[in-house]
Amino acid sequence: MDFSLIFPVLLGLLAGYLINYLADVLPDDLKLTRPACKNPACQANLHWKDYLLFRRCPQCQKAPSPRVYLVILICVAFTLYIWMSPPAGLGFWYGYVIFVYLFLVALIDFETRLVLRPLSLIGLVLFLLAGLHVRSWQETLLGAAAGFGIMFFFYLVGILFSRIRNKRLGSAQDGEEALGSGDVTLATLLGLLLGWPLIWFNLLMGILLAGVFSLLLILGLIITRKYRSMMVFIAYGPFFILSALFLLYFPNWISAILPEV
Ligand SMILES: [Zn+2]
Repeated sequence: MDFSLIFPVLLGLLAGYLINYLADVLPDDLKLTRPACKNPACQANLHWKDYLLFRRCPQCQKAPSPRVYLVILICVAFTLYIWMSPPAGLGFWYGYVIFVYLFLVALIDFETRLVLRPLSLIGLVLFLLAGLHVRSWQETLLGAAAGFGIMFFFYLVGILFSRIRNKRLGSAQDGEEALGSGDVTLATLLGLLLGWPLIWFNLLMGILLAGVFSLLLILGLIITRKYRSMMVFIAYGPFFILSALFLLYFPNWISAILPEV
């Protein structure tokens, strides 16, 4: 057994617990409170020991969701991977912190469709530092401006489109936006991290991934005969983050597909 791998495994476990905990408590009230049972009819506060050992809720016997184990598994595997091949330019520690941050933001966005403002502020500082660490300030700021500009344009188009749709259907605002303002914030942050021109490729790849995912989702709904609505809304944020993770941590895969990138 290779004992030098104990350290990255422990760091991976730490990342997994941290992401699970923050994704459980932050969306409710942005406070670092004691985690509560996920059963909407129960919501009892859990003891730390029960929470950390993945025990069932003592009140209603609800087991922790499979997400908890999946997040820990992914974190340990990913931390081992970047320990052995750290991202070029960034190195292990930047790579580790950025991964934890992106995974947390993607998970919260996926589960609640929220991009939390305090987390965005942390991302702003983290990605500005990381961006300036690997490239010039011009490319870093241009990346952020491009990320903001491209997404803000699509955001306006989305608002216009839903206004036309509501007018046609004669219905009131349903509060659903194809692209949320959170996506604009996220694209700006990723622009700082990836710089110009990589941000442009990142957004394109994210939209393609989201497209493939929604196609599979619709197919799945048709096959299981659950398909009713013509409007299936998906969050774009997790797909922008997924493509950023590919670009940062698996650049060889990308250049195998697209030699000129
Ligand atoms: Zn419970």
